Amino acid sequence: MDCLFCKIVSGDIPATRVYEDEQVLAFPDIHPQAPTHLLIIPKKHIRSHAEAAAGDKEMLGHLMFAAGELAREKKLDGGYRLVINTGPDGGQTVDHMHVHLLGGRPMHWPPG
Ligand code: 5GP
Repeated sequence: MDCLFCKIVSGDIPATRVYEDEQVLAFPDIHPQAPTHLLIIPKKHIRSHAEAAAGDKEMLGHLMFAAGELAREKKLDGGYRLVINTGPDGGQTVDHMHVHLLGGRPMHWPPG
């Protein structure tokens, strides 16, 4: 599978594994956009949020809960932002679904 994030899951490409269980993996973004910038991904290859299937519902909930646990662990008590860029118009650049956890600075709206 020629997928960057699948290669991070398998360990073929190195990343600091800040959280991992049987379903999800979290690691720092290589180009952080905030003091805390983690990527939380399903270990299973799902191309984008748009391609998640009914059978992925439990994993999706698990992924979102893991993001909250990481925000608590990183002490993002002032708040944080979760982002799922989806498809070309959504600004997705890596075709393996991922949640960005951004925090440690005030965020602005609307996004670019
Ligand atoms: P997207 O633009 O698809 O929402 O987010 C992809 C993210 O993956 C980007 O923020 C980018 O910095 C990050 N990224 C790309 N390649 C690597 C890599 O090899 N390692 C890590 N840790 N992050 C990466």
